[in-house]
Amino acid sequence: MEEYVIRCLLCGRSIPVSGQQADQLRAVKEGGTYICDLCRRRVRHESERQQR
Ligand SMILES: [Zn+2]
Repeated sequence: MEEYVIRCLLCGRSIPVSGQQADQLRAVKEGGTYICDLCRRRVRHESERQQR
């Protein structure tokens, strides 16, 4: 099985993804911006706080 490594834009962590996941992420990968679950959650949390 092919494995890809994708890097989070915010924390710079390299996240290994399976070929299937990579297919789904290809669009994001080409754009050069991927944000891992952890950072995504944090960003969402912070933007919710800023709206108030
Ligand atoms: Zn991250």
